[in-house]
Amino acid sequence: MRTMRYIFVTGGVVSSLGKGLTAASMGALLEAWGLRVALKKFDPYLNVDPGTMNPFQHGEVYVLADGAETDLDLGHYERFTNAKLTADSSTSSGKVYAAVLKRERKGEYLGQTVQVIPHVTDEIKKRMHAADKNVDVTIIELGGTVGDIESMPFLEAIRQFVLDEKKSNVLFAHVALLPYLRVADEIKTKPAQQSVALLRGIGIQPDLLLCRTEKRITDEIRRKLSLFCNVPVEGVIQELDVQSIYEVPNMLHEEGVDRFILNYFGFAQQHCNLDPWKKVVSKIRRLRRQLTIALVGKYVHLQDAYKSVYESLDHGAIANGCRLGVLRVDPELLEKENVIALLKDCRGILVPGGFGNRGILGKLSAIRHARTMRIPFFGICLGMQLAVVEFARNVAGLEEAHSVEFAPETPHPVITLMDSQRNLSTKGGTMRLGHYDCQIVPETLLQKAYGDTHVLERHRHRYEFNGAYVDKLVKSGLTISGTGPHGLVEAVEIAEHPWFIGVQFHPEFQSNPHRAHPLFRSFIGAALEN
Ligand code: GLN
Repeated sequence: MRTMRYIFVTGGVVSSLGKGLTAASMGALLEAWGLRVALKKFDPYLNVDPGTMNPFQHGEVYVLADGAETDLDLGHYERFTNAKLTADSSTSSGKVYAAVLKRERKGEYLGQTVQVIPHVTDEIKKRMHAADKNVDVTIIELGGTVGDIESMPFLEAIRQFVLDEKKSNVLFAHVALLPYLRVADEIKTKPAQQSVALLRGIGIQPDLLLCRTEKRITDEIRRKLSLFCNVPVEGVIQELDVQSIYEVPNMLHEEGVDRFILNYFGFAQQHCNLDPWKKVVSKIRRLRRQLTIALVGKYVHLQDAYKSVYESLDHGAIANGCRLGVLRVDPELLEKENVIALLKDCRGILVPGGFGNRGILGKLSAIRHARTMRIPFFGICLGMQLAVVEFARNVAGLEEAHSVEFAPETPHPVITLMDSQRNLSTKGGTMRLGHYDCQIVPETLLQKAYGDTHVLERHRHRYEFNGAYVDKLVKSGLTISGTGPHGLVEAVEIAEHPWFIGVQFHPEFQSNPHRAHPLFRSFIGAALEN
């Protein structure tokens, strides 16, 4: 039987260090050496999954093929590696406690006091072990920062992990910030030393120390960190800020991370193929033509709320060889100001997914502008639903048409709830989630973009195009270009427009830098021609 190896990735000093990107890049490097990897994320919060958190709290909710609502780091894992991710790839404290408490109620611990150690830690360890026996290395990222109260049971589980597995099969990697002090013109190592000291206090000695830094580190700093953190000097890795996240695998390779890991685990791999990553980076460096498109969304001022959409737009730009600027437009601004003036430099408009009433009117104005001025328009999920509302109101003459999400009493509920959604008593994990088949109508723009008549795309929504309005809207000139289970409308377009597509699903969850999603590639291509 194959021996499974594990890499644990923890973070120190501050959050937002790019731990997820580091874990994903390690996965990419190991795959370049011909190894098979799995990736898992453990998050300390008590929500069972992030599906019930808003973007202020959590950033994007990333949806997997099986419908699991997960952390956005799983998006990095999918964009960087070929690892198969499922609901088991994402675990929160809430999920762990829910499982333990369910067992307690069933009476499976009868007679015992149920405790963090061993019951919670056992449940965590069970979830850390790989399910797929064909994988060589499982990379496990722990969310949060070492020292957080909520992380303690996870760190304890990691410490115990090497009692069950041989230490030579488990590698601890710690990602820490080395702050640069401008006034002293110095890179400081003390916070990193202290976070390693915290880990060592818990009984975890890192083998690899990845130092996030804006300036290059000297050999002296490497030796100092090695000595004080008890990490071999070749395990002290400089992880510099880079222009594009897709440079990280090459950079870590040059720093020797992959060779360190192979040696540690005793892998005898001879050949490393990093060509795909080199190609991506050289394409990014050669991007020429400038293109600006607008993204109209409620959370444009947050970095992470539309993470996968921004990434997919970049993939589309890389595929078209253009340098992309995204004008992030708050739809509430469009409600107050002149839409034409605000969007005048944008050659494409995208309205992403979303929930809730705020900014809806502004989004409708942006869509109307795109439709009437023949500007390429891409509506995703809520963006598609609002494109249908705008068309119903302003082309089909259905005044006050709306989605029942925003106007339950509308006379024309063009977007509505299916029966299966009407009587739900719980919110968590109950939307239409995950992969669904979509049949694409031949000779449509959608079919041209995909080059296919059948695709699988991921969903996350409650509301649907109301079938009762299909005839009326089609007669007014709307094209239904994709249909799903039970004939549900999955995609619409306008034939008389250069590029106007709305999709009920989320194509941004299936794009990567090597192979841009066909719809993003086509959208950017159309914007360039506009
Ligand atoms: N709020 C809409 C719905 O639930 C759209 C959801 C989304 O854009 N992901 O159907």
